[in-house]
Amino acid sequence: MQTSALSAPVEVATGQLPQRVRVFEVGPRDGLQNEATALPVEVKAEFVERLVEAGVREIELTSLVRPDRVPQLADAEELLRRLRLPDEVRTVVLTPNEKAVHRAVDAGVREVAVFASCTETFSRRNLGRSIDDSLRMFEPVVEYARHNGLSVRGYFSMVCGDPWEGAVPVDQVVAVARRLDDLGCTELSLGDTIGVGTPGQTVALIDAVVASGIDIRRLAVHLHDTYGQALANASAAIGRGVTVVDASAGGLGGCPFAGSSTGNLATEDLLWHLHGLDIETGIDLRALARTSAWLAGHLGRPSPSRAAQAIMQTPP
Ligand code: MG
Repeated sequence: MQTSALSAPVEVATGQLPQRVRVFEVGPRDGLQNEATALPVEVKAEFVERLVEAGVREIELTSLVRPDRVPQLADAEELLRRLRLPDEVRTVVLTPNEKAVHRAVDAGVREVAVFASCTETFSRRNLGRSIDDSLRMFEPVVEYARHNGLSVRGYFSMVCGDPWEGAVPVDQVVAVARRLDDLGCTELSLGDTIGVGTPGQTVALIDAVVASGIDIRRLAVHLHDTYGQALANASAAIGRGVTVVDASAGGLGGCPFAGSSTGNLATEDLLWHLHGLDIETGIDLRALARTSAWLAGHLGRPSPSRAAQAIMQTPP
């Protein structure tokens, strides 16, 4: 294949965007949870360490789910025991219920996350209960976390569309965001779980959530690339003032609810875009692409990220 002519993007600032965007890396949890291949714990630990070496400073590490439900993450506590990360690295562990948050506190975790659905059907399929019941289930989770000095990240998912219910009304999304805010979540991540959103829709959602009283600095976007719109949606969100973007190295993680099953916004695609706009991330794009290529070897398939592939074919 022909190599790309540039080893890094040409940096041209537009003067209208933030100087810095925080990349919240979800590869080790959201990515690996949705991969068919379960990796050994030492490979996962090395993956996280390589991410940190590349400059990643915010990482979702794993989920304290029931091992029989998500065998890919059955080694969560073992992974947490193995990792020795610098203090400045923000690490988050998903805790779907009370038992999980107790395990998180016992494991010395400093920040946890809860995952709510904005649609009834996905809530019942994914969490086994209605939206209202799931939010009530999170009350003691958040309370226990905060009581123990932990921050809580709140995901609200299926914000743009749902495979069973179709388009999701904006008011429904805002209502869930408000509930997560009332519970005491510090950062709220707006999730287009099946990747059907468009830039206009993304901006309208952000505006509605902010109008409901949530500071935009507490808002993150979590986008999937099913229709090739993840980066366009991230760009629109950043243009609106969002400064935290979820992404996964190499675009890890399919979406089990979307037929075409592409993964999260790839961190490499996001970095090429941000660095090209002269927006700082603190992440070394080549080192990150090398990490994705290394992990792809363990997963037995190439990274779906086009930026990751192109970078690996270009001499430094
Ligand atoms: Mg995701």
